[in-house]
Amino acid sequence: MANYNKKSIADLDVAGKRVIVRVDFNVPLDKTTGEITDDKRIRGALPTIQYLVDHKAKVILVSHLGRPKNGPEAKFSMKPAVDRLSELLGQEVVLASDVIGEDAKAKAEALEDGQVLMLENVRFHKEETKNDPEFARELASLAELYVNDAFGTAHRAHASTAGLANYLPSACGFLIKKEIDVMGKALNDPARPFVAILGGAKVSDKIGVINNLIDKVDTLIIGGGMAYTFNAARGQTVGNSLLEEDKIELAKELMAKAEEKGVDLLLPEDNVIADHFAADADHKVVEGNIPEGWMGMDIGPKTVELYANALKDAKTVVWNGPMGVFEFENFAKGTAQIAEAIANSDAISIIGGGDSSAAIEQLGYADKVTHISTGGGASLEFLEGKVLPGIDCLQNKDAHRAYVCGNWKMNKGVPADAEKFVTELLAKVKDVDSEILIAVPYTVLDRLVALTDATNITVAAENCHFEDEGAYTGEISPKFLAKMGIHNVVLGHSERREYFGETDELVNKKVLAALNWGVRPIICVGESLEQREAGQTFDLVKQQVEAALADVPADRLGAHVTIAYEPIWAIGTGKTATAEQAEEVCAHIRQVLANLYCEETAENTRILYGGSMKAANAAELLGQKNIDGGLIGGASLKADDFSEIAKVYQDR
Ligand code: ADP
Ligand code: MG
Repeated sequence: MANYNKKSIADLDVAGKRVIVRVDFNVPLDKTTGEITDDKRIRGALPTIQYLVDHKAKVILVSHLGRPKNGPEAKFSMKPAVDRLSELLGQEVVLASDVIGEDAKAKAEALEDGQVLMLENVRFHKEETKNDPEFARELASLAELYVNDAFGTAHRAHASTAGLANYLPSACGFLIKKEIDVMGKALNDPARPFVAILGGAKVSDKIGVINNLIDKVDTLIIGGGMAYTFNAARGQTVGNSLLEEDKIELAKELMAKAEEKGVDLLLPEDNVIADHFAADADHKVVEGNIPEGWMGMDIGPKTVELYANALKDAKTVVWNGPMGVFEFENFAKGTAQIAEAIANSDAISIIGGGDSSAAIEQLGYADKVTHISTGGGASLEFLEGKVLPGIDCLQNKDAHRAYVCGNWKMNKGVPADAEKFVTELLAKVKDVDSEILIAVPYTVLDRLVALTDATNITVAAENCHFEDEGAYTGEISPKFLAKMGIHNVVLGHSERREYFGETDELVNKKVLAALNWGVRPIICVGESLEQREAGQTFDLVKQQVEAALADVPADRLGAHVTIAYEPIWAIGTGKTATAEQAEEVCAHIRQVLANLYCEETAENTRILYGGSMKAANAAELLGQKNIDGGLIGGASLKADDFSEIAKVYQDR
């Protein structure tokens, strides 16, 4: 399950700090005058910007505008947006002439508390959409904190929408917070009855949404062009209506699934039909079958009544996609009347999708619904249950959210086994609350990154070198990892220390190199049996933690570093640390962090226990105050066992 419990700017101490804020100022411009034709997006970001100004932050805004192809182009300058923002904010907003160049750096440096700087269009750099780690690092170097408030691009993993969070402590702005509070609640814990109304042109555009919502809603209402594929599936003739023949089977399956789940699936009983697709086409209402030569353009009055009735007692309503060709007046009635029914209902009402949002606004109901999502594509992916990278990358509000990490090592015969494990696991942990990370061999990293895209499983490397490049046969640099889109790595694993002679100094070099590339390390520490029996555990672990963290700044620690206590004597020996033994050392590690940094940093750093954690003992271990998760090796890397461990957190 996507985690929507993220830090917001209200959780940050921003006074006197440089805060880089990704906003969505991709506003429509008049083609001839270049003037802004709709400033809704700028207004949408005002609460966040005003908050930062009022709280004495040095504000650095970054956005894209349009689709510049080859570097800077005057017509894609942020200038008009800056002018409008200055007016709305009632204070000067400075525009830098570049994004990460001399001017941006000088102007960021010169900012005083409460001042606002806007960088030039971030897409003047092609590295932006590639989420290039070096570009993200340069951009991050302008600031001390990162806030994402651009919901409209949150479904994209670009440097300014996700990459920055690998370098800076991060939080969401108020716009994204509202999106995830309202929509996240509707998806994860809706007030019932929960009714979804889906429309628009094509079934194929909305399959993901239907699939995700059918597991959650009490009633599913279908209208718009896509309804005709469903009506065809139940044996009606649909004339020349929009029909996706290759989706008829799918429509049948969805209808069967709805029936099986006890979901009420409502389809149009009558339609406004036209003799051709035009605003002034001849039209009439028919019930049931649509005759040859005619096409369905809108839902009919009986259907409106049926749908409005289903909305009456709803406590949560999600609407995506118009009920007909609402751009033509003669075929806009169904959409308008459904919009009215939603506006008049007491339900929590959420409007997602570009055209549906435009319709609600044009009709003047914007103030009568709970929430109009500001992202077209992003809200669709949200409703599909996908994990949005622009939200996923931000710091958790709950610093102790369970972190369940698997470590594949060199286990089993073929690389495909790791892939099979992750594939099976994806299905089993879809609704799990824990954060899940799987470290896999280099050979399958690429494939598994693709496989886990937009899901709640993150893929990590099991190790990396400390140099950026050079003649190190057989090694992989953190730069390689970052450029592959891998942002997590396990370092100093007990097996690396034991069999490959890794020292504390080497581990520290790797930690610093990883952080330099925006790759978040899980640092392993732990003692051998002889060391434990000689009573050296606490001193040794302290020494390992301190050495590994040499020169790591406090803000990187809380935001990007995880420590794993991994007693060597409990690995592959059949011996298991008791929950008390594990907790005792993890508490000690937290104290070491507190002494090294401060209480707050220690509190914000996740500490894992690794060493024969399995389904049977996970609840007890994860129940300990200072154990925030597990690093789980070979023995429990079966999808069933692993998912049991991952479920412990939400069951407690
Ligand atoms: P949203 O942007 O809200 O997600 P979509 O983009 O999926 O909505 O769908 C909107 C489009 O669907 C509109 O352009 C509308 O004209 C079209 N549409 C709705 N009903 C029909 C229909 N019966 N026949 C053809 N097009 C339709
Ligand atoms: Mg649309």
